[in-house]
Amino acid sequence: MSYLPNTNRYQKMEYRRCGNSGLLLPALSLGLWHNFGGIDNIANAREILHTAFDNGITHFDLANNYGPPAGSAELTFGELFKQDFKSYRDELLISTKAGWPMWDGPYGDWGSKKHLIASLDQSLKRMGIPYVDIFYHHRPDPNTPMEETMAALDLIVRHGKALYVGVSSYSPAETEKAYSILKNLGTPCVIHQPKYSMFERTVEKGLLDVLEVNGMGGIAFSPLAQGLLTNKYLNGIPENSRANAHRGNGAIEKDAITPENIEKVRQLNKMAEGRCQSLAQMALAWVLKDKRISSVIIGASKPEQVIDSVGCLQNSTFSEYELQLIDQILK
Ligand code: NDP
Repeated sequence: MSYLPNTNRYQKMEYRRCGNSGLLLPALSLGLWHNFGGIDNIANAREILHTAFDNGITHFDLANNYGPPAGSAELTFGELFKQDFKSYRDELLISTKAGWPMWDGPYGDWGSKKHLIASLDQSLKRMGIPYVDIFYHHRPDPNTPMEETMAALDLIVRHGKALYVGVSSYSPAETEKAYSILKNLGTPCVIHQPKYSMFERTVEKGLLDVLEVNGMGGIAFSPLAQGLLTNKYLNGIPENSRANAHRGNGAIEKDAITPENIEKVRQLNKMAEGRCQSLAQMALAWVLKDKRISSVIIGASKPEQVIDSVGCLQNSTFSEYELQLIDQILK
């Protein structure tokens, strides 16, 4: 049956300006790293995408290598886009990335012009679209001059294959440099995609300041620490969870599920109950409290998780006391 999106889809979502750019991002974006690969159930993937769009999530985040196998998430997305979203293209932001290993040989990863141009062409072909809204360099490359990597991003924009460009997992100094090279080329570096959650706060040591000073937006990945910041691991590792090794595809590092972390999660969960929200909702609201974060990219293995996560917007402020308590728990 053909998909008819919810006509109320724009009523509950908040849209935030990405730095000083004209780009408005939904406070919650959906990432297709897990659950959209060739090994996954396409009917479930379709339901997740529908639920996201029905709830105002206008941004789908991909990368060349998402799967498994690498590339298959873009193929799944391309198929579902053709079926259900083609006529809504102008209501959607689609992003992809290149930089992690994608194909064999010397041009299959990192940050050369050769890799970035070829990889984006492959991504567009897999998704069946002529351009993406955002294209990222996925990780810094210590061996390619940053001038070359940024010139490739600039060229991609000039060729109309991406509307905006950004970087992911760059340090504060690398971000400054990328920003200034791109500025000189005449193409703004509008967005940075770092890992940020209650459990991973490195961005607070300089990166968020760099974004603010340069008018760049931040979009946080793994804001739930891959599911650890939910109530799902409180009583062990459920069969149907990402930490269960059978699920393939970069499971949560085993060492993240320690008794110490679970004790922190237990205390955070109790606090979330006191705020009348799920721990997932509290953890997302906590990342979104910083206005330098334009969006959080959530993952979901079922549609219900998307609905639960979007609910974070219903209680998204924290008292000073609550923030101190969270810091104390996380110490
Ligand atoms: P999250 O931290 O949001 O983890 C998602 C997982 O958490 C889900 O698969 C699910 O786990 C669990 N979950 C989600 N919502 C709920 C809920 N409401 N209640 C209970 N459990 C929930 O994000 P991801 O790690 O998936 O990353 C999100 C996106 O960020 C990726 O898809 C990708 O687009 C991007 N990313 C970018 C990277 C980069 O280098 N730039 C690196 C990694 C991610 P389960 O599957 O066990 O049910």
